[in-house]
Amino acid sequence: IASRLPQVGTTIFTVMSALAQQHGALNLSQGFPDFDAPADLLALLDEATRAGHNQYAPMAGMPVLREAIAEKVQALYGVAYDVDTEVTVTAGATQGLFTAIAALVHPGDEVIVFAPAYDSYAPSVELQGGKVVYATLSQPDWRPDWDEVGRLITPRTRMVIVNSPHNPTGSVWTADDMARLEALLQGTDIVVLSDEVYEHMVFDQVRHESVLRYPGLAERSVVVSSFGKTYHITGWKVAYCVAPRALMAEFRKAHQFIVFTVHAPSQVALATFMKRPGWYEQLKALYQGKRDIFRQAISGSRFELLPCQGTYFQCVRYSAISDEGDRAFVERLVTEHGVAAIPVSAFYPDGRDEGVIRFCFAKSAATLEKALERLIRL
Ligand code: PMP
Ligand code: GLN
Repeated sequence: IASRLPQVGTTIFTVMSALAQQHGALNLSQGFPDFDAPADLLALLDEATRAGHNQYAPMAGMPVLREAIAEKVQALYGVAYDVDTEVTVTAGATQGLFTAIAALVHPGDEVIVFAPAYDSYAPSVELQGGKVVYATLSQPDWRPDWDEVGRLITPRTRMVIVNSPHNPTGSVWTADDMARLEALLQGTDIVVLSDEVYEHMVFDQVRHESVLRYPGLAERSVVVSSFGKTYHITGWKVAYCVAPRALMAEFRKAHQFIVFTVHAPSQVALATFMKRPGWYEQLKALYQGKRDIFRQAISGSRFELLPCQGTYFQCVRYSAISDEGDRAFVERLVTEHGVAAIPVSAFYPDGRDEGVIRFCFAKSAATLEKALERLIRL
């Protein structure tokens, strides 16, 4: 078969979770919590199902949920989106990202992606006949090089994909980064696709710099967030996009034929649950606590900690333990030591191996304790 994606194999998350299961290892690889969603959210889902919300939701999403999303976005970032024309519920952030790319990238268009990058971006662009152009994020703090980005912009650049807080590195862009991006794009018709699924997971006194705080970015951005991350429900696959009307009109042309509409009862349940006060602060405190436990223990090991300002991922270097490649090292970690991690080379288009692996700390205290016990012995 003539493959549309000849370079693509099975996503690393599937590969590592399967290996973890096969070896009965503690799974700190794929990013998902090993604890359950709040009981009252589960009860709301049950209620919504029994209340008969079991047929197609409207194409753009249940109005109650779109209203709750618009309220949240306005409260947090000060931008008012029209519920009818500028907010769309998607089947996970993955589908939102894919749909935005399918709707906006023409064959031959260039899309700037910062590497290391979440693994769905490049294949999604390539399936549309777009060309991925990589910008560099460099260790140890993975800052973008804005002069380089400036040089990468050409008349064919159609889109820039940004992701802060960043998977896999846990770095968070600053106000200065956003201002640099805003200035570079001024006067162009380049679209920003902003993956903000970890918007509520920023630690210490750091602020999440949504593109929505920058008018010159907001006017050209599709912003994606995911309820999976925010409410410990990655299995529900419910997320949303907001964008100015003209962009969202194009987005919906594709959305209606990619998925048409999203699981209805989850949307009703989430609309109610989103009104709960204090959730985002609680979430941040929960993950900051887990990050601190993880870092505290690892700081007494031979792993070298890289900074972590956001997300639920911690990257480490392991050169004091082994000179293996990162894939070989994580394979040995899972088979011999019973802990699964993600090799960061999976986030590089050319498989570049920087000797860095990623652990997910969205795990119960008991799981973390057991995993850390194994890791500090290495
Ligand atoms: N973007 C990033 C950066 C992610 O880490 C993830 C999930 N791990 C997604 C998108 C996909 O989110 P969803 O599960 O809602 O499709
Ligand atoms: N985003 C999660 C991660 O980075 C996993 C998503 C997936 O399995 N596709 O681990």
